[in-house]
Amino acid sequence: MELEAVIITTSLAAIAVTAIVFLTRSYRLSERLSEARQQADTDTLTGLLNRGALNNALRDAFSAPGALQLVYIDLANFKDVNDTAGHEAGDAVLEKVADTLRRHAPSTASISRMGGDEFCVLLPDHTDLEALEFCERVCTSLKTRSDLPDGVESVDLSAGVASRSEDCQSAEELLRRGDRAMYHSKSCRLGPELYSANLDESLRVRREIRSELGTAFNAGRLQLAYQPLVNARTGELAGAEALLRWPDKIGRAGSPGEFIPIAEETGLIVDIGKWVIQEALAQIARMDNKIAIAVNVSTRQFLDTDFSTLVADSIIEAGVPPNLLKIEITESVLITYTEKAARILRELRDIGVQILLDDFGTGYSSLSYIQKFDFDMLKIDRAFVRAMDKSRAGGDLLRSIINMGHSLDMEVVAEGVETRRQAAMLQLLGVDYLQGFALGAPGTADKLLNFQPSETLTKSSNDIQIQTEDSKIKPSSVA
Ligand code: C2E
Ligand code: MG
Ligand code: MG
Repeated sequence: MELEAVIITTSLAAIAVTAIVFLTRSYRLSERLSEARQQADTDTLTGLLNRGALNNALRDAFSAPGALQLVYIDLANFKDVNDTAGHEAGDAVLEKVADTLRRHAPSTASISRMGGDEFCVLLPDHTDLEALEFCERVCTSLKTRSDLPDGVESVDLSAGVASRSEDCQSAEELLRRGDRAMYHSKSCRLGPELYSANLDESLRVRREIRSELGTAFNAGRLQLAYQPLVNARTGELAGAEALLRWPDKIGRAGSPGEFIPIAEETGLIVDIGKWVIQEALAQIARMDNKIAIAVNVSTRQFLDTDFSTLVADSIIEAGVPPNLLKIEITESVLITYTEKAARILRELRDIGVQILLDDFGTGYSSLSYIQKFDFDMLKIDRAFVRAMDKSRAGGDLLRSIINMGHSLDMEVVAEGVETRRQAAMLQLLGVDYLQGFALGAPGTADKLLNFQPSETLTKSSNDIQIQTEDSKIKPSSVA
Protein backbone atom coordinates (compact mmCIF):
# COMPACT_ATOMS: atom_id res chain seq x y z
CA MET A 1 0.00 0.00 0.00
CA GLU A 2 2.79 2.33 0.98
CA LEU A 3 4.70 1.43 -2.13
CA GLU A 4 1.59 2.22 -4.28
CA ALA A 5 1.28 5.64 -2.64
CA VAL A 6 4.91 6.37 -3.33
CA ILE A 7 4.53 5.30 -6.95
CA ILE A 8 1.39 7.46 -7.41
CA THR A 9 3.02 10.49 -5.74
CA THR A 10 6.14 10.09 -7.84
CA SER A 11 4.08 9.75 -11.02
CA LEU A 12 2.05 12.85 -10.15
CA ALA A 13 5.22 14.79 -9.46
CA ALA A 14 6.68 13.60 -12.78
CA ILE A 15 3.51 14.65 -14.59
CA ALA A 16 3.59 18.04 -12.88
CA VAL A 17 7.23 18.57 -13.79
CA THR A 18 6.57 17.51 -17.38
CA ALA A 19 3.58 19.90 -17.53
CA ILE A 20 5.64 22.76 -16.12
CA VAL A 21 8.44 22.07 -18.58
CA PHE A 22 5.90 21.86 -21.40
CA LEU A 23 4.12 25.06 -20.37
CA THR A 24 7.41 26.93 -19.94
CA ARG A 25 8.61 25.73 -23.32
CA SER A 26 5.39 26.60 -25.07
CA TYR A 27 5.36 30.04 -23.38
CA ARG A 28 8.92 30.61 -24.62
CA LEU A 29 7.91 29.37 -28.02
CA SER A 30 4.96 31.73 -28.24
CA GLU A 31 7.18 34.56 -26.96
CA ARG A 32 9.69 33.72 -29.67
CA LEU A 33 6.96 33.44 -32.26
CA SER A 34 5.61 36.88 -31.35
CA GLU A 35 9.17 38.27 -31.37
CA ALA A 36 9.73 36.73 -34.78
CA ARG A 37 6.40 38.09 -36.02
CA GLN A 38 7.31 41.55 -34.70
CA GLN A 39 10.69 41.34 -36.39
CA ALA A 40 9.06 40.35 -39.63
CA ASP A 41 6.76 43.40 -39.32
CA THR A 42 9.48 45.86 -38.35
CA ASP A 43 11.90 47.93 -40.33
CA THR A 44 15.20 47.11 -38.62
CA LEU A 45 16.79 50.53 -39.04
CA THR A 46 13.99 52.72 -37.74
CA GLY A 47 11.84 50.34 -35.70
CA LEU A 48 8.77 51.47 -37.66
CA LEU A 49 6.42 49.07 -39.45
CA ASN A 50 7.74 47.82 -42.75
CA ARG A 51 5.91 47.80 -46.06
CA GLY A 52 4.26 44.39 -45.56
CA ALA A 53 2.98 45.32 -42.11
CA LEU A 54 1.71 48.65 -43.38
CA ASN A 55 -0.23 46.90 -46.12
CA ASN A 56 -1.94 44.70 -43.51
CA ALA A 57 -2.64 47.68 -41.24
CA LEU A 58 -4.00 49.60 -44.22
CA ARG A 59 -6.36 46.77 -45.21
CA ASP A 60 -7.69 46.61 -41.62
CA ALA A 61 -8.05 50.38 -41.33
CA PHE A 62 -9.70 50.62 -44.75
CA SER A 63 -12.42 48.16 -43.77
CA ALA A 64 -13.06 49.82 -40.37
CA PRO A 65 -15.67 52.61 -40.13
CA GLY A 66 -14.70 56.29 -39.69
CA ALA A 67 -12.47 58.73 -41.52
CA LEU A 68 -9.04 57.61 -42.69
CA GLN A 69 -6.16 59.68 -44.06
CA LEU A 70 -3.03 58.28 -45.62
CA VAL A 71 0.12 60.39 -45.68
CA TYR A 72 2.91 59.43 -48.10
CA ILE A 73 6.28 61.00 -47.49
CA ASP A 74 9.51 61.06 -49.45
CA LEU A 75 12.72 62.86 -48.53
CA ALA A 76 13.39 65.49 -51.15
CA ASN A 77 17.16 65.67 -50.71
CA PHE A 78 18.06 62.16 -49.52
CA LYS A 79 20.26 61.29 -52.49
CA ASP A 80 22.32 64.43 -51.85
CA VAL A 81 22.69 63.45 -48.18
CA ASN A 82 23.97 59.98 -49.11
CA ASP A 83 26.24 61.32 -51.84
CA THR A 84 27.79 64.15 -49.89
CA ALA A 85 27.63 63.13 -46.21
CA GLY A 86 27.84 59.33 -46.63
CA HIS A 87 25.59 56.35 -45.94
CA GLU A 88 25.96 56.47 -42.17
CA ALA A 89 24.68 60.01 -42.17
CA GLY A 90 21.88 58.82 -44.51
CA ASP A 91 20.87 56.15 -41.98
CA ALA A 92 20.97 58.68 -39.16
CA VAL A 93 18.69 60.99 -41.15
CA LEU A 94 16.17 58.17 -41.67
CA GLU A 95 16.18 57.54 -37.91
CA LYS A 96 15.57 61.24 -37.22
CA VAL A 97 12.65 61.24 -39.63
CA ALA A 98 11.17 58.14 -37.94
CA ASP A 99 11.61 59.77 -34.54
CA THR A 100 9.95 63.00 -35.72
CA LEU A 101 7.01 61.08 -37.20
CA ARG A 102 6.54 59.15 -33.93
CA ARG A 103 6.63 62.36 -31.93
CA HIS A 104 3.97 64.11 -33.98
CA ALA A 105 1.64 61.23 -34.83
CA PRO A 106 -1.26 60.33 -32.52
CA SER A 107 -1.19 56.97 -30.71
CA THR A 108 -3.79 55.58 -33.15
CA ALA A 109 -1.50 56.12 -36.16
CA SER A 110 0.36 53.35 -38.01
CA ILE A 111 3.75 54.60 -39.11
CA SER A 112 5.91 52.74 -41.58
CA ARG A 113 9.06 53.01 -43.62
CA MET A 114 8.13 51.75 -47.04
CA GLY A 115 11.75 51.28 -48.07
CA GLY A 116 14.50 53.69 -49.15
CA ASP A 117 13.53 57.20 -48.11
CA GLU A 118 9.76 56.69 -48.28
CA PHE A 119 7.44 56.66 -45.30
CA CYS A 120 3.71 56.19 -44.89
CA VAL A 121 1.45 57.18 -42.00
CA LEU A 122 -2.17 56.09 -41.50
CA LEU A 123 -4.20 58.61 -39.53
CA PRO A 124 -7.59 57.22 -38.51
CA ASP A 125 -10.34 59.74 -37.60
CA HIS A 126 -8.50 62.69 -39.14
CA THR A 127 -9.85 65.31 -41.55
CA ASP A 128 -7.94 66.44 -44.67
CA LEU A 129 -6.95 69.59 -42.88
CA GLU A 130 -5.69 67.75 -39.81
CA ALA A 131 -3.59 65.45 -42.00
CA LEU A 132 -2.10 68.45 -43.84
CA GLU A 133 -1.38 70.11 -40.50
CA PHE A 134 0.37 66.92 -39.37
CA CYS A 135 2.59 67.11 -42.48
CA GLU A 136 3.38 70.77 -41.84
CA ARG A 137 4.31 70.02 -38.23
CA VAL A 138 6.63 67.21 -39.28
CA CYS A 139 8.25 69.35 -42.01
CA THR A 140 8.82 72.28 -39.69
CA SER A 141 10.14 70.10 -36.91
CA LEU A 142 12.62 68.37 -39.24
CA LYS A 143 13.78 71.66 -40.70
CA THR A 144 14.54 73.03 -37.26
CA ARG A 145 16.16 69.92 -35.75
CA SER A 146 19.58 70.72 -34.37
CA ASP A 147 20.77 67.09 -34.01
CA LEU A 148 21.19 66.25 -37.70
CA PRO A 149 24.44 64.48 -38.65
CA ASP A 150 27.47 66.56 -39.68
CA GLY A 151 27.28 67.76 -43.25
CA VAL A 152 23.46 67.63 -43.36
CA GLU A 153 22.03 71.13 -43.30
CA SER A 154 18.35 70.25 -43.35
CA VAL A 155 15.92 67.52 -44.29
CA ASP A 156 13.17 68.42 -46.72
CA LEU A 157 10.06 66.36 -47.20
CA SER A 158 7.62 65.95 -50.06
CA ALA A 159 4.28 64.81 -48.68
CA GLY A 160 1.02 63.69 -50.26
CA VAL A 161 -2.28 63.16 -48.46
CA ALA A 162 -5.12 60.92 -49.67
CA SER A 163 -8.36 60.38 -47.83
CA ARG A 164 -10.68 57.39 -48.03
CA SER A 165 -13.64 58.71 -49.98
CA GLU A 166 -16.60 57.08 -51.71
CA ASP A 167 -14.84 56.88 -55.05
CA CYS A 168 -11.75 55.21 -53.58
CA GLN A 169 -12.48 51.52 -54.07
CA SER A 170 -9.63 49.78 -52.29
CA ALA A 171 -6.81 50.09 -49.81
CA GLU A 172 -4.32 49.71 -52.68
CA GLU A 173 -5.96 52.62 -54.53
CA LEU A 174 -5.70 54.80 -51.41
CA LEU A 175 -1.98 54.02 -51.22
CA ARG A 176 -1.53 54.84 -54.93
CA ARG A 177 -3.35 58.16 -54.46
CA GLY A 178 -1.10 59.13 -51.54
CA ASP A 179 1.94 58.26 -53.65
CA ARG A 180 0.69 60.31 -56.61
CA ALA A 181 -0.08 63.33 -54.40
CA MET A 182 3.43 63.04 -52.95
CA TYR A 183 4.97 62.83 -56.43
CA HIS A 184 3.06 65.94 -57.45
CA SER A 185 4.24 67.82 -54.39
CA LYS A 186 7.81 66.76 -55.23
CA SER A 187 7.78 67.55 -58.92
CA CYS A 188 6.11 70.92 -58.49
CA ARG A 189 8.14 71.71 -55.37
CA LEU A 190 4.97 72.48 -53.46
CA GLY A 191 4.19 71.97 -49.79
CA PRO A 192 2.06 68.94 -48.75
CA GLU A 193 -0.37 68.11 -51.54
CA LEU A 194 -3.89 66.74 -51.16
CA TYR A 195 -4.89 64.13 -53.74
CA SER A 196 -7.61 65.17 -56.19
CA ALA A 197 -8.68 63.77 -59.55
CA ASN A 198 -7.04 66.84 -61.22
CA LEU A 199 -3.66 65.64 -60.01
CA ASP A 200 -4.06 62.51 -62.09
CA GLU A 201 -4.62 64.67 -65.17
CA SER A 202 -1.66 66.80 -64.26
CA LEU A 203 0.57 63.73 -63.81
CA ARG A 204 -0.69 62.29 -67.11
CA VAL A 205 0.34 65.51 -68.86
CA ARG A 206 3.73 65.43 -67.19
CA ARG A 207 4.32 61.83 -68.23
CA GLU A 208 3.30 62.66 -71.79
CA ILE A 209 5.76 65.56 -71.87
CA ARG A 210 8.55 63.50 -70.32
CA SER A 211 8.22 60.78 -72.90
CA GLU A 212 7.75 62.97 -75.99
CA LEU A 213 9.64 66.26 -75.53
CA GLY A 214 13.12 64.89 -76.24
CA THR A 215 12.03 63.22 -79.47
CA ALA A 216 10.14 66.33 -80.60
CA PHE A 217 13.15 68.55 -79.91
CA ASN A 218 15.61 66.23 -81.66
CA ALA A 219 13.29 66.01 -84.66
CA GLY A 220 13.28 69.83 -84.93
CA ARG A 221 9.62 70.12 -84.03
CA LEU A 222 10.01 72.95 -81.50
CA GLN A 223 9.66 76.48 -82.82
CA LEU A 224 10.01 80.06 -81.63
CA ALA A 225 7.18 82.58 -81.68
CA TYR A 226 7.95 86.28 -81.44
CA GLN A 227 5.91 88.72 -79.38
CA PRO A 228 6.37 92.44 -80.08
CA LEU A 229 7.75 94.76 -77.45
CA VAL A 230 6.28 98.19 -78.04
CA ASN A 231 7.58 101.63 -77.12
CA ALA A 232 4.96 103.04 -74.74
CA ARG A 233 5.43 106.64 -75.93
CA THR A 234 5.44 106.17 -79.69
CA GLY A 235 3.61 102.85 -80.17
CA GLU A 236 6.50 101.69 -82.37
CA LEU A 237 8.16 98.27 -82.35
CA ALA A 238 11.09 98.21 -79.94
CA GLY A 239 12.04 94.53 -80.17
CA ALA A 240 10.50 91.13 -79.52
CA GLU A 241 10.52 88.27 -77.04
CA ALA A 242 11.18 84.75 -78.34
CA LEU A 243 8.79 82.19 -76.83
CA LEU A 244 9.07 78.45 -77.29
CA ARG A 245 6.25 76.65 -79.07
CA TRP A 246 5.55 72.93 -79.54
CA PRO A 247 3.07 73.16 -82.41
CA ASP A 248 2.02 69.52 -82.65
CA LYS A 249 0.91 69.48 -79.02
CA ILE A 250 -2.41 71.04 -78.30
CA GLY A 251 -3.72 71.56 -74.79
CA ARG A 252 -1.74 71.79 -71.59
CA ALA A 253 1.21 69.65 -72.69
CA GLY A 254 2.03 72.16 -75.44
CA SER A 255 2.32 75.15 -73.12
CA PRO A 256 5.85 76.26 -72.19
CA GLY A 257 4.64 76.82 -68.63
CA GLU A 258 4.14 73.02 -68.48
CA PHE A 259 6.98 71.62 -70.58
CA ILE A 260 9.82 73.95 -69.56
CA PRO A 261 9.83 72.93 -65.87
CA ILE A 262 10.00 69.29 -67.02
CA ALA A 263 12.83 70.06 -69.44
CA GLU A 264 14.57 71.61 -66.42
CA GLU A 265 14.03 68.47 -64.37
CA THR A 266 15.36 66.17 -67.06
CA GLY A 267 18.23 68.47 -68.02
CA LEU A 268 16.97 68.74 -71.60
CA ILE A 269 16.61 72.48 -71.07
CA VAL A 270 20.37 72.88 -71.55
CA ASP A 271 20.17 71.69 -75.19
CA ILE A 272 16.82 73.35 -75.84
CA GLY A 273 18.04 76.63 -74.35
CA LYS A 274 21.18 76.56 -76.50
CA TRP A 275 19.05 76.07 -79.60
CA VAL A 276 16.74 78.95 -78.55
CA ILE A 277 19.71 81.33 -78.33
CA GLN A 278 21.17 80.20 -81.67
CA GLU A 279 17.79 80.30 -83.42
CA ALA A 280 16.97 83.76 -82.04
CA LEU A 281 20.37 85.06 -83.23
CA ALA A 282 19.84 83.49 -86.65
CA GLN A 283 16.45 85.22 -86.79
CA ILE A 284 18.00 88.60 -85.90
CA ALA A 285 20.44 88.10 -88.80
CA ARG A 286 17.58 87.10 -91.16
CA MET A 287 15.84 90.38 -90.20
CA ASP A 288 18.98 92.30 -91.28
CA ASN A 289 20.00 93.08 -87.70
CA LYS A 290 17.09 95.48 -87.35
CA ILE A 291 15.12 93.98 -84.47
CA ALA A 292 16.42 93.05 -81.02
CA ILE A 293 15.23 89.78 -79.57
CA ALA A 294 14.99 88.75 -75.92
CA VAL A 295 15.30 85.08 -74.96
CA ASN A 296 14.19 83.46 -71.71
CA VAL A 297 16.86 81.56 -69.84
CA SER A 298 16.01 79.07 -67.14
CA THR A 299 17.91 78.73 -63.88
CA ARG A 300 19.45 75.39 -64.69
CA GLN A 301 20.68 76.55 -68.08
CA PHE A 302 22.09 79.73 -66.60
CA LEU A 303 23.96 78.10 -63.73
CA ASP A 304 24.78 74.60 -64.96
CA THR A 305 26.58 75.38 -68.17
CA ASP A 306 29.32 77.74 -69.18
CA PHE A 307 26.57 80.11 -70.15
CA SER A 308 28.51 83.27 -71.00
CA THR A 309 30.86 81.33 -73.31
CA LEU A 310 27.87 79.82 -75.08
CA VAL A 311 26.38 83.30 -75.59
CA ALA A 312 29.68 84.79 -76.80
CA ASP A 313 30.36 81.91 -79.25
CA SER A 314 26.80 81.98 -80.60
CA ILE A 315 26.95 85.74 -81.19
CA ILE A 316 30.24 85.45 -83.07
CA GLU A 317 28.92 82.57 -85.17
CA ALA A 318 25.73 84.47 -86.09
CA GLY A 319 27.66 87.67 -86.83
CA VAL A 320 25.09 89.77 -85.00
CA PRO A 321 25.75 92.91 -82.90
CA PRO A 322 25.66 91.74 -79.24
CA ASN A 323 23.33 94.53 -78.16
CA LEU A 324 20.55 92.97 -80.25
CA LEU A 325 20.40 89.94 -77.97
CA LYS A 326 18.68 90.34 -74.61
CA ILE A 327 18.64 87.76 -71.87
CA GLU A 328 15.59 87.41 -69.61
CA ILE A 329 16.13 85.79 -66.23
CA THR A 330 13.87 85.51 -63.20
CA GLU A 331 14.69 86.15 -59.58
CA SER A 332 14.94 82.41 -58.90
CA VAL A 333 18.31 82.46 -60.71
CA LEU A 334 19.67 84.90 -58.18
CA ILE A 335 18.57 83.28 -54.98
CA THR A 336 20.71 80.18 -54.72
CA TYR A 337 24.14 80.86 -56.14
CA THR A 338 24.33 84.59 -55.79
CA GLU A 339 28.07 84.85 -56.34
CA LYS A 340 28.04 82.61 -59.38
CA ALA A 341 25.04 84.43 -60.83
CA ALA A 342 26.79 87.77 -60.28
CA ARG A 343 29.87 86.52 -62.14
CA ILE A 344 27.87 85.24 -65.11
CA LEU A 345 25.89 88.48 -65.30
CA ARG A 346 29.15 90.49 -65.32
CA GLU A 347 30.51 88.33 -68.13
CA LEU A 348 27.34 88.81 -70.15
CA ARG A 349 27.50 92.52 -69.64
CA ASP A 350 31.12 92.48 -70.85
CA ILE A 351 29.99 90.69 -74.00
CA GLY A 352 27.53 93.53 -74.54
CA VAL A 353 24.15 91.80 -74.20
CA GLN A 354 21.40 93.41 -72.16
CA ILE A 355 19.88 91.70 -69.14
CA LEU A 356 16.21 91.86 -68.21
CA LEU A 357 14.64 90.81 -64.93
CA ASP A 358 11.47 88.93 -65.93
CA ASP A 359 8.23 88.38 -63.98
CA PHE A 360 9.19 91.02 -61.46
CA GLY A 361 6.98 90.87 -58.38
CA THR A 362 6.24 87.15 -58.45
CA GLY A 363 9.37 86.04 -56.61
CA TYR A 364 11.22 87.60 -53.72
CA SER A 365 11.30 91.07 -55.26
CA SER A 366 14.14 91.99 -53.00
CA LEU A 367 15.52 95.47 -53.51
CA SER A 368 18.98 94.25 -52.57
CA TYR A 369 19.08 91.83 -55.51
CA ILE A 370 18.00 94.49 -57.90
CA GLN A 371 20.58 96.96 -56.74
CA LYS A 372 23.34 94.36 -56.63
CA PHE A 373 22.78 92.95 -60.10
CA ASP A 374 22.36 96.06 -62.15
CA PHE A 375 19.72 95.04 -64.72
CA ASP A 376 19.00 96.96 -67.88
CA MET A 377 15.26 96.38 -67.77
CA LEU A 378 12.60 95.34 -65.32
CA LYS A 379 9.60 93.40 -66.66
CA ILE A 380 6.64 93.83 -64.35
CA ASP A 381 4.57 90.64 -64.13
CA ARG A 382 1.10 90.71 -65.62
CA ALA A 383 -0.47 90.09 -62.19
CA PHE A 384 0.28 93.75 -61.39
CA VAL A 385 -1.32 94.94 -64.60
CA ARG A 386 -4.46 93.01 -63.66
CA ALA A 387 -4.37 94.36 -60.11
CA MET A 388 -4.34 97.89 -61.55
CA ASP A 389 -7.73 97.19 -63.12
CA LYS A 390 -9.19 96.03 -59.87
CA SER A 391 -8.28 98.74 -57.41
CA ARG A 392 -6.77 102.17 -57.03
CA ALA A 393 -4.12 100.65 -54.75
CA GLY A 394 -3.07 98.46 -57.72
CA GLY A 395 -2.36 101.60 -59.80
CA ASP A 396 -0.41 103.16 -56.96
CA LEU A 397 1.69 100.04 -56.55
CA LEU A 398 2.52 100.02 -60.26
CA ARG A 399 3.49 103.66 -60.15
CA SER A 400 5.86 102.91 -57.24
CA ILE A 401 7.48 99.99 -59.07
CA ILE A 402 7.96 102.05 -62.22
CA ASN A 403 9.48 104.92 -60.22
CA MET A 404 11.74 102.53 -58.36
CA GLY A 405 12.94 101.01 -61.65
CA HIS A 406 13.68 104.45 -63.09
CA SER A 407 15.50 105.61 -60.00
CA LEU A 408 17.77 102.57 -60.32
CA ASP A 409 18.45 103.42 -63.98
CA MET A 410 16.38 100.63 -65.42
CA GLU A 411 13.84 100.82 -68.19
CA VAL A 412 10.50 99.32 -67.25
CA VAL A 413 8.32 96.96 -69.30
CA ALA A 414 4.73 96.00 -68.40
CA GLU A 415 3.81 92.45 -69.44
CA GLY A 416 0.40 90.95 -70.15
CA VAL A 417 -1.27 94.15 -71.39
CA GLU A 418 -4.63 92.89 -72.66
CA THR A 419 -6.79 95.99 -73.13
CA ARG A 420 -6.51 99.50 -74.54
CA ARG A 421 -7.47 100.81 -71.15
CA GLN A 422 -4.55 99.05 -69.46
CA ALA A 423 -2.17 100.28 -72.16
CA ALA A 424 -3.29 103.86 -71.71
CA MET A 425 -3.09 103.75 -67.94
CA LEU A 426 0.41 102.27 -68.06
CA GLN A 427 1.44 104.97 -70.50
CA LEU A 428 0.27 107.59 -68.05
CA LEU A 429 2.08 105.87 -65.21
CA GLY A 430 5.31 106.34 -67.15
CA VAL A 431 6.14 102.78 -68.20
CA ASP A 432 8.72 102.60 -71.03
CA TYR A 433 7.60 99.52 -72.97
CA LEU A 434 4.46 97.43 -73.27
CA GLN A 435 3.98 93.81 -74.17
CA GLY A 436 0.73 91.89 -74.35
CA PHE A 437 -2.16 90.70 -76.50
CA ALA A 438 -3.44 94.29 -76.85
CA LEU A 439 -0.23 95.22 -78.67
CA GLY A 440 0.43 91.92 -80.45
CA ALA A 441 0.24 88.22 -79.60
CA PRO A 442 3.25 85.93 -80.11
CA GLY A 443 3.46 85.02 -83.81
CA THR A 444 5.75 84.29 -86.72
CA ALA A 445 8.81 86.33 -87.71
CA ASP A 446 6.89 87.54 -90.81
CA LYS A 447 4.16 88.91 -88.62
CA LEU A 448 6.78 90.69 -86.53
CA LEU A 449 8.35 92.22 -89.65
CA ASN A 450 4.92 93.52 -90.71
CA PHE A 451 4.18 95.08 -87.32
CA GLN A 452 2.34 98.40 -87.64
CA PRO A 453 2.84 101.11 -84.98
CA SER A 454 0.22 100.47 -82.38
CA GLU A 455 -2.99 102.46 -82.73
CA THR A 456 -3.96 101.14 -79.35
CA LEU A 457 -1.53 103.57 -77.85
CA THR A 458 -1.67 106.59 -80.07
CA LYS A 459 -5.45 106.81 -79.85
CA SER A 460 -6.05 105.84 -76.29
CA SER A 461 -3.62 107.95 -74.33
CA ASN A 462 -5.50 111.18 -74.89
CA ASP A 463 -8.89 109.97 -73.82
CA ILE A 464 -8.09 108.42 -70.49
CA GLN A 465 -7.22 109.73 -67.09
CA ILE A 466 -5.80 107.57 -64.43
CA GLN A 467 -7.22 107.13 -60.98
CA THR A 468 -4.69 106.92 -58.18
CA GLU A 469 -4.66 107.95 -54.53
CA ASP A 470 -3.10 111.29 -55.57
CA SER A 471 -5.34 112.22 -58.44
CA LYS A 472 -8.68 110.62 -57.49
CA ILE A 473 -9.80 111.28 -61.05
CA LYS A 474 -12.26 108.81 -62.47
CA PRO A 475 -10.97 106.99 -65.56
CA SER A 476 -13.09 107.43 -68.64
CA SER A 477 -14.57 104.26 -70.05
CA VAL A 478 -12.21 103.06 -72.73
CA ALA A 479 -12.95 99.51 -73.85
P1 C2E B 1 7.31 84.87 -69.83
O1 C2E B 1 8.74 84.93 -70.20
O2 C2E B 1 6.86 85.78 -68.75
O3 C2E B 1 6.51 85.12 -71.16
C1 C2E B 1 5.30 85.80 -71.24
C2 C2E B 1 4.16 84.86 -71.28
O4 C2E B 1 2.95 85.60 -71.28
C3 C2E B 1 4.11 84.04 -72.57
O5 C2E B 1 3.48 82.81 -72.24
C4 C2E B 1 3.16 84.86 -73.44
O6 C2E B 1 2.55 84.11 -74.47
C5 C2E B 1 2.18 85.30 -72.41
N1 C2E B 1 1.48 86.53 -72.78
C6 C2E B 1 1.89 87.51 -73.58
N2 C2E B 1 0.99 88.52 -73.62
C7 C2E B 1 -0.02 88.16 -72.80
C8 C2E B 1 -1.26 88.79 -72.43
O7 C2E B 1 -1.61 89.88 -72.83
N3 C2E B 1 -2.04 88.10 -71.55
C9 C2E B 1 -1.70 86.88 -71.06
N4 C2E B 1 -2.51 86.27 -70.23
N5 C2E B 1 -0.52 86.27 -71.40
C10 C2E B 1 0.29 86.90 -72.25
P2 C2E B 1 4.04 81.46 -72.80
O8 C2E B 1 4.51 81.61 -74.18
O9 C2E B 1 3.01 80.42 -72.47
O10 C2E B 1 5.32 81.24 -71.89
C11 C2E B 1 5.20 81.02 -70.53
C12 C2E B 1 6.54 81.06 -69.88
O11 C2E B 1 7.36 80.00 -70.33
C13 C2E B 1 7.34 82.32 -70.20
O12 C2E B 1 6.91 83.37 -69.40
C14 C2E B 1 8.74 81.86 -69.86
O13 C2E B 1 8.95 81.90 -68.48
C15 C2E B 1 8.69 80.42 -70.29
N6 C2E B 1 9.34 80.31 -71.61
C16 C2E B 1 8.83 80.51 -72.84
N7 C2E B 1 9.77 80.29 -73.79
C17 C2E B 1 10.91 79.95 -73.13
C18 C2E B 1 12.25 79.59 -73.54
O14 C2E B 1 12.63 79.61 -74.70
N8 C2E B 1 13.14 79.26 -72.54
C19 C2E B 1 12.79 79.27 -71.23
N9 C2E B 1 13.71 78.94 -70.31
N10 C2E B 1 11.55 79.63 -70.80
C20 C2E B 1 10.64 79.96 -71.75
MG1 MG C 1 10.01 86.35 -70.54
MG1 MG D 1 7.33 87.31 -67.85
